[in-house]
Amino acid sequence: FITLLDQIKSGHAKKKNSPVRSEVTFSEKDLIQALDREQFILHYQPQVSIKTGEVTSIEALVRWLHPHKGLIYPDKFIYQIEEFKLINQLTSYVLRLACEDLRQLKTQHPFIKLSVNVTADNIVSLVFPELLKNITDQNNINPTSITLELTESAVMGHLTSSLDVLNRLRMKGFKLSIDDFGTGYSSLQQLYQAPFTELKIDRAFTSKMLVDNEAMAIVKICIMLGKMLNMKTLAEGVETKEIMEELDRLSCDYAQGYYIAKPMPYSDLMDWIPNALQQLKQQY
Ligand code: C2E
Ligand code: MG
Ligand code: MG
Ligand code: MG
Repeated sequence: FITLLDQIKSGHAKKKNSPVRSEVTFSEKDLIQALDREQFILHYQPQVSIKTGEVTSIEALVRWLHPHKGLIYPDKFIYQIEEFKLINQLTSYVLRLACEDLRQLKTQHPFIKLSVNVTADNIVSLVFPELLKNITDQNNINPTSITLELTESAVMGHLTSSLDVLNRLRMKGFKLSIDDFGTGYSSLQQLYQAPFTELKIDRAFTSKMLVDNEAMAIVKICIMLGKMLNMKTLAEGVETKEIMEELDRLSCDYAQGYYIAKPMPYSDLMDWIPNALQQLKQQY
């Protein structure tokens, strides 16, 4: 049954994503060179506690600082990085950079945590938990400060092998979040089998929750589901004060989105954090 679901899902994923993904193409050589020359940079987007407005975590979002084309967003190159089997190299690089920044950040904000996006190819590798642990050890970071964000396709693609890796990661103390929840197949199956600690409600639902009853129903169900399965709930794509207030009423734990802050370079984040708590409290 699972294999069947896998097959249906991978077929679906390809069909659904190919038109968007083939818009821009880079050659294998371009991408290898970009990795070798360390042209990838990180922006960070805060995640806040809805109850208190405190910054609880920052999500690392990769960008390619192209020498001629300027800043390129991940939707334009992650797929190709995966196709050329370069994703493990990119993820290692991202994790190193992000953990170095987190170590620095913790000297001033010791309770802020870090979320990093990982994909299917990262979590089929049995050495991945060790690699990650080495990076956190080198930076004197407790694994409980790190959350790995996985999309449904990342887990469902190779459910059996990835489950083993996910369990190993949890045993080491790393946290696991299911990203873009509700936008793929078999979400419940995954929640049931994999040791997720957080459920991230997709922007598609958050953004429409005040204008569409069905989107609202889905947001409510996600929050309830998270609570019943002992997971934290995070709403992504929060763009207005009204949505933030409604999420507060619904007892969603965390929020992330343009209403709070756009992703920004590390140096801007350092300026933003000290003012954030006060501002957010005044705003809603
Ligand atoms: P994601 O992890 O679901 O990240 C959320 C995306 O939505 C980010 O786009 C973010 O900038 C954007 N966003 C955040 N708040 C709002 C909002 O209020 N409104 C709207 N309209 N958008 C918002 P970004 O940075 O372009 O990243 C896109 C996707 O690329 C990410 O989706 C993630 O799946 C992937 N990605 C980013 N960085 C990495 C990485 O280091 N490794 C891997 N494997 N994937 C990454
Ligand atoms: Mg994410
Ligand atoms: Mg997401
Ligand atoms: Mg997304």
